Amino acid sequence: MSKPNVILLTVDTLRADRLGSYGFHPTITPKIDQLAESGIRFTQVITGGSWTQAAFPVILTSTYASMYGGCLGTLASERPSPIQVLSDAGYSTAAFTTSPLLSRNYGYDKSFDEFVDLNPGGRDPSLRKFRGGHFLLQKSITHHLSRLVGVRTRPAKIYSSAEELTNRVNQWIGENNEPFFIWAHYMDVHWPYHLEESLTQPNQIAQAWRDLVHLHDANWNGAVITPVQEEHYIDLYERAVAYTDIQLGKLLDYLTESGLDQNTIIILLSDHGEEFLEHGRWGHWENNLYDEILKVPLIIRIPGVGGRVVITEQLQTLDLMPTILDLCDCIPPDGMKGKSFASLCGKGRSQFQPRVAISEMWRESWHIIAVRTEDYKYIWDSKHPQIPQLYDLQTDPGEKHNFAADFPRVVEELQATVEIVLQEGEKTKSKNLTTPDLDKDMVDRLRDLGYVE
Ligand SMILES: [Zn+2]
Repeated sequence: MSKPNVILLTVDTLRADRLGSYGFHPTITPKIDQLAESGIRFTQVITGGSWTQAAFPVILTSTYASMYGGCLGTLASERPSPIQVLSDAGYSTAAFTTSPLLSRNYGYDKSFDEFVDLNPGGRDPSLRKFRGGHFLLQKSITHHLSRLVGVRTRPAKIYSSAEELTNRVNQWIGENNEPFFIWAHYMDVHWPYHLEESLTQPNQIAQAWRDLVHLHDANWNGAVITPVQEEHYIDLYERAVAYTDIQLGKLLDYLTESGLDQNTIIILLSDHGEEFLEHGRWGHWENNLYDEILKVPLIIRIPGVGGRVVITEQLQTLDLMPTILDLCDCIPPDGMKGKSFASLCGKGRSQFQPRVAISEMWRESWHIIAVRTEDYKYIWDSKHPQIPQLYDLQTDPGEKHNFAADFPRVVEELQATVEIVLQEGEKTKSKNLTTPDLDKDMVDRLRDLGYVE
């Protein structure tokens, strides 16, 4: 294979257990399943952070979320840049993102030759801004009446659709002649899970407003989620997964039809999962470091490497960029904390060594670190350092029973790893952190995504 192209497809908030290839039945993801059939499926990949802002510095720079001043501001310029390495090696690099948290405002355009920040534009109906407007928007009659007088009352799109994103990526590929590295980030599976085409009837639009208000209330004010609501949200989520699969399929089909699949490494990854009340809440709360959030799907198809391969070793998203560089025969930049696992795929120069996985929740005043082995999950919380959590993943995969008091030696051993992560943060305090410049539209989008109260 001459210099391979690489396409990194990240799907925000995608749970592995909703993919047919990971056991969901009947499948709603035939295209992703096909990719797994012809590629390598990894069953135990741990993300480095519990939400987008903590997960992506780890995925794209192979450093911990808490390093270089943490993960809340713009991406620190001191973090290593594997994208730059690819660029220096002659790759044409392009990113297509749909999340405001991964936009140019947050510094994610660093080192990319081309950075396409897809923004859906549009504004919420002005009724929302009036006192009592939210109440009216939750009524079907409001939407019937507004339709009669031609007033728009649908919620504004928070992110660009998978269809739009795939079209942009396919177009770019069609116009490009050099070896390329592409990162495309899909948002459709992220809350509020509302697909554009599902919001055509007045009652559907009213329901969408009820959902937005209710989940916001559940997130910030402790509103209860009933079993009926739970079923409704899971149904919306699964529809969004099925829709994303169709759109990803258009990209994969395009690669096959153009013959580019013969020389393109395709990677499908999620940044974190989504909690469906496993630990009492909905969504991806920053301080949830349990496996429904941390264990993410990863599928890699490498031309010439046999399909239907399943790798069960524990890996980290921290290891992804070192692996990509290894597969592209590039020397990794200094400072990356991950290690290549290309040898597990029968490629690359370095030998794979099993390691503990690190995941973090990081804020200036609050830091939680999870250390995961194949047998245990240890969680250290800076607000409650005297109450460490230890879960036996073999007998208690749901992580319900804290065994810390029974296994002091395991606690001590894994706490030593926590100390190392804390030291890395101390050693790499960034001087170049800036607060992202956000306009009102951006703040509104972040609020509807659940990141702002
Ligand atoms: Zn995310």
